[in-house]
Amino acid sequence: MHATGLKCVFCQATYSLEPLYECAACTGLLEVVYDRTQADDPRALLPISKQDRIHLGEGETSLLSAPRLAKRLGIKELLLKCEFMNPTGSFKDRPVAIGISKAVEFGFQKVIAASSGNGAASVSAYAARAGLEAIILVPESTPIEKVRQTLAYGAKVIRVKGPYSNCFSLAKQLGESQNIFNLTTTLLNPYTVEGNKAVAHELYEQMKGFVPDVIYVPIGAGPLLIGIYRGYEEARHFHEGTKLPRMAGIQATGNNPIATAFTLGESVVRSEPNPQTIAGGIADGLVGYEKDGTYTLQIVNQSNGFVLDVSDARILEAQILLAEEEGVFVEPSAAAGIAGLMKSLEEHRISENDSVVVVLTGHGLKDMGNVRVASEVPTIENGMEQLLGVVGK
Ligand SMILES: *Cc1c(COP(=O)(O)O)cnc(C)c1O
Ligand SMILES: [Zn+2]
Repeated sequence: MHATGLKCVFCQATYSLEPLYECAACTGLLEVVYDRTQADDPRALLPISKQDRIHLGEGETSLLSAPRLAKRLGIKELLLKCEFMNPTGSFKDRPVAIGISKAVEFGFQKVIAASSGNGAASVSAYAARAGLEAIILVPESTPIEKVRQTLAYGAKVIRVKGPYSNCFSLAKQLGESQNIFNLTTTLLNPYTVEGNKAVAHELYEQMKGFVPDVIYVPIGAGPLLIGIYRGYEEARHFHEGTKLPRMAGIQATGNNPIATAFTLGESVVRSEPNPQTIAGGIADGLVGYEKDGTYTLQIVNQSNGFVLDVSDARILEAQILLAEEEGVFVEPSAAAGIAGLMKSLEEHRISENDSVVVVLTGHGLKDMGNVRVASEVPTIENGMEQLLGVVGK
């Protein structure tokens, strides 16, 4: 716990710990403030006490070293933070676990979320776990795997035509008008992002206090990237002399509002009304909440990091490369992190001697439609001769 209030990240106005979504003074983003002097461990800095946590075993995900892929890419050390190993198959379980716990604490019976699919499955699963009702709005383009997974946990799922931003704004309106707790995992709900800090706390422990030079994170609005950076800032507070990592935010070329602002050296992010990418988890055009992108850009710059975009073709290539070299199969939005690492090496944004962590955000089974594998496998009669004919002697 040790949370003492909420604070606007832009104008510093303060609020109490209530179900609020933006600063009343400037409409800015709110973040949770803690009394760090009362805590002895960064992991204690959460807006919910341990015994009130709704959980499904999220977190404590594997950190795998990837020597074969590192060699292919020409870098010394590559580590993979396997967030796809979370209970519903994506890192979204971390922010949602905190968000649902707050929903219960606040006394809400219903939650709502706009999601491109992974947040949908998480909210639906954790709502089931807590005995709450969930209403989920997903874009029409959401992969069927994610829709069916969300339905399996019992949520009411509605597909909305057009880009993700349409879902975002409808969910916000319905949440406000009917007093339903909004668990959309952008930076809207100030509590959910806090769950992402644990990625940094775990990395800190898994790497025995060593901090990687660069951390690659595929970004939609950016709460995962922000949470990780915040987590390292907290680790530094408790362990003097800890350095901070450079944060590399990766977007898709067909939806790159934050990368564009970074490249142009602008400090304000403009939305993308028509995202076009197969990487659904990061197809977030930020229409109506451009401030999320602006804040994410601010954090990236503060970390001396960078934002770049990668094409769908390179994402699909990286997806197969990772699976074939390391036996790790992730969805396109997660593979974007690997594709981003490859591109940044080509562009000399990092050195081959840098230690690198790539955060693998979602499981490959969640979105099978575009995977670049053979469309057919051979079928044979039940016989050894036929089998030898296919596999060769
Ligand atoms: C949501 C999501 C992202 C983007 O994370 P943000 O915190 O919204 O920036 C990346 N990858 C996957 C698989 C996701 O589901
Ligand atoms: Zn403000």
